[in-house]
Order: sequence, then structure tokens, then C-alpha cells
Amino acid sequence: MNEFELLFLGTSAWDYSPKLQTEFKDKFDKDVRRSACALLNGTILIDCGFHCLDSIKIAGVDAKNISDVFLTHLHGDHCNFKAIEYIASLRKTPLNLWIRSDATVPDINNVIVKRLTKMTPVELDKNFTITTYYANHDERSLPQHLLFEKNGKKFMYACDGAWFLRETYYALKDSNIDLLVLDCTVGDKLGDYRVCEHNTIPMIRVLLPSFKTWGIINENSKVLVSHLAPSLHVSHDETEKIMSEIGASVAYDGLTVKV
Ligand SMILES: [Zn+2]
Ligand SMILES: [Zn+2]
Repeated sequence: MNEFELLFLGTSAWDYSPKLQTEFKDKFDKDVRRSACALLNGTILIDCGFHCLDSIKIAGVDAKNISDVFLTHLHGDHCNFKAIEYIASLRKTPLNLWIRSDATVPDINNVIVKRLTKMTPVELDKNFTITTYYANHDERSLPQHLLFEKNGKKFMYACDGAWFLRETYYALKDSNIDLLVLDCTVGDKLGDYRVCEHNTIPMIRVLLPSFKTWGIINENSKVLVSHLAPSLHVSHDETEKIMSEIGASVAYDGLTVKV
């Protein structure tokens, strides 16, 4: 039985294709990525970058059904308080905004701020917990990876961040994550300067076998990469071919994955 249905609404890094203002204004395309945003089980929004309201509209999602927003960190391509304010304004009951315990956010009408403490599971619903693990990314943006667990199924959203922090890696030993979404900002090239804040394809090539050895994932896990910078990658189809040899798939705007 599937516990998680993840709809990718934005799979780009900070930069994005100018085409989404013109011929792709009203539709998704595998090579025209919008900024970070995903919808879990129809009601939980993970990140809300610059374009999230456009993506929600294109996907035909009824925004007033969104009850919870989780922010992975406070960079603008993931965190848009105007969008949160708009979604909250549509709701009769308050919208829950989940952030790291040390983050500061503005007061927003009809929003309840909920704080996540490192490696401390919080119950969202019966048999449904969320745990935050800190990420290897710009510390000022208070980055976190989010582990969702429901009836024994596990889904981890790990964007943005390079590798894992040592403490996160050790804490996740033998966790056997069913669905893992990893940062893949940079394409298949060596020498990029961002390797201590974002992943490149060569880094993922190295990471996945170690994750298997360590039990973070197993043979049955689904691994997807997201947060691709269009300027640092070849086409979606070419990247999909490269990633399939590594044992991963490439997310695109509009893709739904179930586990
Ligand atoms: Zn980002
Ligand atoms: Zn970031």
C-alpha cells in the first residue's frame, strides 16, 4: 500500500529558464524547471520557491487544501512568505508553518509556526511523524533535511545540501528509506566550486553505494534527484540516462512518485 504520494512542483535550483515566462507560462516541461516546491499527499507543501503559486495553479491543486508548509531552509528559491500568506488567507483554519527551532519568521495572518528540533520526531497525525536532520548547506539559511515516516514507510527530502552532515549520516544508519530525494544542483562535471553546499552528479555516483553499505537506502529504495540548475545540466532526457546508470531518476515539474 502506498503511504506517500509526492508531486514535484518545482525542481530547479536558484536559476531557472526564462522560457517559463513565455511559451511555458501555463504548462510544465521537463526542461523548464521552476523553483523548489513539492506537494506531499495533497495537503503538505515542502518548500515554496518563487514560482510555487504558478506551479500549484498549473498542477490544478486546490491551494486551500494545503494544511502544512515545511521549509527546508530560508533561501528565496525555497521560501516565499508572500505565497504562505496567500495560502493561509484561503483557509478557514490556520495553516501550520514548520521550520527549524532556531529560525525566525515574520508574523503572518492565520499561520501557526511549528518548530522542529534536531532529530526529535514530531507527530503530524496518527502513525505519521516528521524528523529533522541538519544539512550541509549555507548555515545562515538554517538548512534541514526532512524525514517523513508513515505506517513504516519512509520518505526523505534532502534539498539543499551537499553529501550529508556526519551526524545526519550516522543517525540514519539502517534507516532503509523508501523514497530519497537528493540535491543535484550541478551536472556531470568535476571542478565545480559548490561541492561543500550542493551535490554534483559525480558526488551522487560516490554517495549512493555508501548509502547502501550503510543501510540508509537498499535495493528497493527509490532515489530521485531534484534542485537541478538548468545552466549546469544537459537536457532532462540526457540526465535521466546518466542517472539511470547510477541507480537514480531525475525529478521534473509535474512528476508524481508513490511509495
Ligand atoms: Zn536552492
Ligand atoms: Zn539553498
